Amino acid sequence: PKYVYLFKEGRADMRALLGGKGANLAEMTNIGLPVPPGMTISTEACKEYYHIGGKMPAGIMDEVKQYLTTVEEQTGKKFGDLSNPLLVSVRSGAMFSMPGMMDTILNLGLNEQTVQSLASNTDNLRFAYDAFRRFIQMFGDVVLELPKHEFENLLHRQKEEQGVTYDQELTSESLRKVINNYKEMIESETGHPFPEDPMVQLTMAIEAVFRSWNNDRAIIYRNLNKIPHDLGTAVNVQSMVFGNMGNDSGTGVAFTRNPSTGENVLYGEFLTNAQGEDVVAGIRTPRPIAQLKEEMPVIYDQFEKIADLLERHYKNMQDIEFTIERGRLYILQTRNGKRTAQASVRVAYEMAKEGLITKQAALLLVEPNQLDQLLHRQIDSGAKLNVIAKGLPASPGAASGKVVFDSDEAERMGKTGAKVLLVRMETTPDDIHGIVAAQGILTSRGGMTSHAAVVARGMGKPCVCGCEPIRIDYAKEEFTVGQLTVKKGDIISIDGSSGQVILGEVPMKEPEISSEYSIVLSWADEYKRLEVRANADTPEDAKKAREFGATGIGLTRTEHMFMGQERLPFVQQMILAETLEERLEALSHLLPMQQGDFYGILKAMEGYPVCIRLLDPPLHEFLPSQEELLIETTELKITGKDPKLLAEKQQLLKKVRALHEFNPMLGHRGCRLGITFPEIYEMQIQAIFNATVELTKEGYNVLPEVEIPLTIDVNEMKIFKEKIVAIAEAAMSAANAKFHYSVGTMIELPRAALLADELAEYSEFFSFGTNDLTQTTFGFSRDDAEGKFLPNYVERKILKENPFIVLDQKGVGKLMRIAVEGGRKARPGLLIGICGEHGGEPSSVAFCHQIGLDFVSCSPYRVPLARLAAAQAAI
Ligand code: PEP
Ligand code: MG
Repeated sequence: PKYVYLFKEGRADMRALLGGKGANLAEMTNIGLPVPPGMTISTEACKEYYHIGGKMPAGIMDEVKQYLTTVEEQTGKKFGDLSNPLLVSVRSGAMFSMPGMMDTILNLGLNEQTVQSLASNTDNLRFAYDAFRRFIQMFGDVVLELPKHEFENLLHRQKEEQGVTYDQELTSESLRKVINNYKEMIESETGHPFPEDPMVQLTMAIEAVFRSWNNDRAIIYRNLNKIPHDLGTAVNVQSMVFGNMGNDSGTGVAFTRNPSTGENVLYGEFLTNAQGEDVVAGIRTPRPIAQLKEEMPVIYDQFEKIADLLERHYKNMQDIEFTIERGRLYILQTRNGKRTAQASVRVAYEMAKEGLITKQAALLLVEPNQLDQLLHRQIDSGAKLNVIAKGLPASPGAASGKVVFDSDEAERMGKTGAKVLLVRMETTPDDIHGIVAAQGILTSRGGMTSHAAVVARGMGKPCVCGCEPIRIDYAKEEFTVGQLTVKKGDIISIDGSSGQVILGEVPMKEPEISSEYSIVLSWADEYKRLEVRANADTPEDAKKAREFGATGIGLTRTEHMFMGQERLPFVQQMILAETLEERLEALSHLLPMQQGDFYGILKAMEGYPVCIRLLDPPLHEFLPSQEELLIETTELKITGKDPKLLAEKQQLLKKVRALHEFNPMLGHRGCRLGITFPEIYEMQIQAIFNATVELTKEGYNVLPEVEIPLTIDVNEMKIFKEKIVAIAEAAMSAANAKFHYSVGTMIELPRAALLADELAEYSEFFSFGTNDLTQTTFGFSRDDAEGKFLPNYVERKILKENPFIVLDQKGVGKLMRIAVEGGRKARPGLLIGICGEHGGEPSSVAFCHQIGLDFVSCSPYRVPLARLAAAQAAI
């Protein structure tokens, strides 16, 4: 059998036989890159090694020797030669990349004689001895399996003797001593001298790679990652090249385009007469690649052509490592280059324009999450940060400001022009004015779907939430984190993209939207099938959503309209009402306000559907807390000053107690409110249709969708559907107008998903509320889980991802599939979307595409990334 392959005999698709690394080296060789020649010993050889009980398969070294002759011819060097010795690296390389297997052995082929040749060829004895020392150490560690620390100890002792701290301070004489000590130690520990014969070294190294396939670390890694144990590893033997063989040698790295701007120019740096390590160690300062053009024009020319070739081949910007040895260019590695968001968009756009790739391929080159960055202020990448804590990255962008713990105060200070950062344990709809006034929000509790997170994301405002390490003391107006105390008025910064909380102000970069950005997104619209809507509660948000390319609103949370100074009293009156009459009276004040809200939103979204959800949260969210009232009533009692107010507050407290629930998320909320207090929903429905009539008469084409939250049964839907139709009909006939509207439900509870076929009878659309659906499918409180046990679940890989961020396709997704199937069976063509936070997360968007949804809806700022993700899913 054939066990050994020259690089030029392989191909990229031979990973199973040659391993990932071998296949890659083969691919590069075959597209004409000057890769240092070498060979790959196949995984079959490794399997055979184990098959025959851990012995080298017969004839394998003969094959290696034969191919080595070819490598010698290709390089003009000879293995073990005294004047121009061939040195090789030996590396493991399985089909899947596997940390835990053998490390690389470099400089194999060095011995007492060849080390002298290396010294004279590089004119650097110190370098040659250092290379030899490293080789012996690597060989001793991974081939002879001697403890690494014994080598470290010997090296350390020499440094002590010489009174130096760093390896590079050791002279050639000292290194010579270290080599001797290494060799003595090897002989006394193994009973054999260090092998001087390069062929013996090579045989032993290859066998060591085979053995490393079954070392403990490798086995554990395979078990953890479910990689079969019988694949075996390949072994790559590649000729070494040296960039330090004089002034016609050198080393460098370069990107085929500028990775921070995307500009189509070679971008990188190089050093003459140096090794890669010199760059890493920072001993010498590399020079810009452009100077290579002056110094070695022929090489530069060749490199430019290679860069071009590589981009054409891999259809992506490349990050290339190269070495020049005595006037010959070698490519050591190439991979897709990392780039900034800005560069990513520009590279994709220009590559398509240059005809290098199709528009579809260009769309696939941009990472959707990167788009988000472009819309927000970012911390300058070079900035030194004093990070004091880390929370959840709830809403991207960075902000600095004076710490404020109270929303009223945030508003007051904001009005004076001060930049403030609102710090709360958590926020409620009551904090909305504080959030508006603040540069950013930091909370110590609550997850990615908490109020602060959702609202901030909607406004495009930075937010870090669930930052448990910070302890807030409202009374003292300070928070502590570890030993540090941060007081009201101190300046902190947050990075909502990483979750970092930073002490002091930080330098920032303003967002930049380029014309390429808009064009690439318009390409996305050509290919996506999903509609992208926005979650928006105000006309301003709706306008912003339109600018970002949303074609409709997928969720208007009407409870956000129940807040605000002038409304809350009526909302509270509505809740506290003892009689129906009293409640109707309160509602009559709210109706025109709601009507005005709907008027604004529908108008801003003219021509596109606007899904308006009726009241969802439990009523006590609109009342003061028990604690607050207890303190107030106690104080009033003690002072005895205002008996009337005391009576009022006591009455309020009684009501708050009566409304108290142990599990409000599972309690009297959603359409259950509409069942028990039909007049609340009636007011909202009336307001929607009044606004619709107004706009229709003014000549606007508006498309309201009335949505019922938290349904569990068709009987609920039947009640609401009939009511909505009746009010709509009445509105039309009263105004002698005709308009279009539809009625549907959120699917956010498992029972609703399971009985979707029944719900569809009275629903013209479904919208998955995956925040609640995740909460109830997992039985995880969406407000607590992320701060308490969920990180542990993710860290220990019990769950792969936080299901409140990345849709759980396995569990929650299964319910969604059931609902889609049931709904469409009962009502073919049923409109179905998603409006939970997952609607703006790329992998979740792809899933929604896959199961046949019609739209995704997310916060306005995430609309661009959702458009791109939707296109990628369709390509
Ligand atoms: C949901 O539950 O996914 C949803 C969109 O509604 P809310 O977040 O307002 O509960
Ligand atoms: Mg919900």
